[in-house]
Amino acid sequence: MGFVPVIGRSIKKQLEEREAQILSPFAARSATSKGRRVEEPEDMCDIRLPYQRDRDRIIHSKTFRRLKHKTQVFLAPAGDHYRTRLTHVLEVSQIARTISAALCLNEPLTEAIALGHDLGHTPFGHAGEATLNELHPSGFKHYLHSLRVVDHLEKKGRGLNLSWEVRNGIACHSKGRDEILPSSGQGLAETLEGQVVRLADIVAYVNHDLDDAMRAGLLEDGDIPHSIVAVVGSGHSLRIGSMVRDIIVETLTASDGNLHISEPMLVAITELRSFLYDNVYRNLLVHREFEKAQRIITELYAYFLEHGLVRRMGDDWAIAAGDCDWPDEKSGHRRVCDYIAGMTDNYAIGVYEHLFMPSPWSVR
Ligand code: MG
Repeated sequence: MGFVPVIGRSIKKQLEEREAQILSPFAARSATSKGRRVEEPEDMCDIRLPYQRDRDRIIHSKTFRRLKHKTQVFLAPAGDHYRTRLTHVLEVSQIARTISAALCLNEPLTEAIALGHDLGHTPFGHAGEATLNELHPSGFKHYLHSLRVVDHLEKKGRGLNLSWEVRNGIACHSKGRDEILPSSGQGLAETLEGQVVRLADIVAYVNHDLDDAMRAGLLEDGDIPHSIVAVVGSGHSLRIGSMVRDIIVETLTASDGNLHISEPMLVAITELRSFLYDNVYRNLLVHREFEKAQRIITELYAYFLEHGLVRRMGDDWAIAAGDCDWPDEKSGHRRVCDYIAGMTDNYAIGVYEHLFMPSPWSVR
């Protein structure tokens, strides 16, 4: 017969009962969440559970909308078909939800982590991140900044007040060039849903960056090393499908409450990541644009540090300096870093032109 919701009872309660009935014993459940940083009333319309509300708060945030004009790999691409940070996040979400559904995990939690994981990305992708990391005295990591966005910067400094499990998943998604799924468990999210997003992130980006590199003419299908093709197959769709299926099958087979991936697939994904570093991320043509982006960020940073934020430009990034766990909350460096990290590629270029390029005098 299945689960049929009925009128006259709390919708939220019935969703909780459904979670209890159909989710895997290894899934996170709304009813046992560690809660929010600040307690608040439940959904006043009695429709959504906490992770659903978190997902919706992220989608409705300004930072989320700005992802559409932030670089994934190719800077401010003129071609409409290149990925941006927003489409990357959507592809991560789609892959993560597919894995989550097959493992009977909590899909709204998975989705909320996936949609929120890259909110802290700077303009110009990793070039922007690397530059802020050099300029800010405490360094800069996009995954920590994602957490700062949802805790402090969104809603004019009030933050989104997300559930602990979503915040934990966001903070633990990144791996850089480190182990994709550390056997020690160190650095992994506490929920399986958070771990799924960590894997879905790399499955998404190695595939879409490869696809975009082919679109840009940097690579051809035949350039992919045979050792990778032998494991993941040929073609964009089959590559993603092979990786996703491997994670699902290995995890269901082990059924031990941890996420698994087969050794050959882990090696193939790691090799593909290295292949992209060598042929795309460090490609001279891509890198030349990165250097220009780094110059823009560096000059904006120095200017704002010396002159203070330029409020007259109509930006509303007033940062609330209330109680928080960031020790340098009120410092000039922190404010400048927050301001620049929040910019889109186009906005940063516009501010740079406004500050440093002469405007042609218009004749009346
Ligand atoms: Mg990502």
